[in-house]
Amino acid sequence: MTNIGIVGAGAAAAAAAFVLADAAPDADVTVLEKSGGLCGRAATRRHEDLTYDYGANYLKSDDDRVVELVTETLDDEGLADIDEPVYTFDADGAVSPGRDADDRKWSYRGGLTQIAKRLFARTDATVHRRTRVETVRQVGSDTAAGDDVRDGATTLLEGVGAAERSDPDRVGALGLARSVRDPEVQYGLGYVIAISKAIGRSRAADGD
Ligand SMILES: Cc1cc2nc3c(=O)[nH]c(=O)nc-3n(C[C@H](O)[C@H](O)[C@H](O)COP(=O)(O)OP(=O)(O)OC[C@H]3O[C@@H](n4cnc5c(N)ncnc54)[C@H](O)[C@@H]3O)c2cc1C
Repeated sequence: MTNIGIVGAGAAAAAAAFVLADAAPDADVTVLEKSGGLCGRAATRRHEDLTYDYGANYLKSDDDRVVELVTETLDDEGLADIDEPVYTFDADGAVSPGRDADDRKWSYRGGLTQIAKRLFARTDATVHRRTRVETVRQVGSDTAAGDDVRDGATTLLEGVGAAERSDPDRVGALGLARSVRDPEVQYGLGYVIAISKAIGRSRAADGD
């Protein structure tokens, strides 16, 4: 079983979980969200009969994938196509007609957080709210093996680089005998012999 963790339950996380439901149907997807709600900076609040968004206001139709998602893939119940400019108010409370820059402005009668709610609803992802991720760390034996390989490759590449820079001479039998008494060469040979041994062991196990 593949375990996949997603940090945050914003629109991007909801879209990722939605895609994963198709791309990795057997994966166990867990979402950790620090706040109590879904959809992050798209944030819907209610006051008596009024539903309002104090973060993102609307979806645009610039991208065909958004159009398809909103009008065909997801349930379009309560989808509102807003013709009028979206009025804004600034920090001083002054209300203005806002920009009328976008052709299409979609929201939902239940607020824009519906986009994440509808995406998550189409997945089996488990969402833990009020759960802040403090740190992300790789664990597991595969990772440890990966670290060893990375360190080994670094050692070899550094050795190759140093050899290139030192412009080594040809070594005859006498030079070889002299070199073998050098502790650094002894360490290096020990390392190369260990690699040879491991490769030989692996080839023998494969029956090559
Ligand atoms: C006032 C305002 C108006 C906007 N208007 C529009 C608009 O009209 N149209 C539009 O398309 N876009 C608009 N945007 C932009 C839009 O809101 C964002 O682009 C979009 O919501 C980003 O989604 P996201 O999932 O990438 O990130 P976010 O929405 O920021 O989601 C991140 C989530 O991760 C959670 N999180 C963060 N750190 C942790 C942690 N350590 N552990 C657990 N959880 C964590 C957060 O709580 C949040 O829920 C607006 C933004 C703002 C602020």
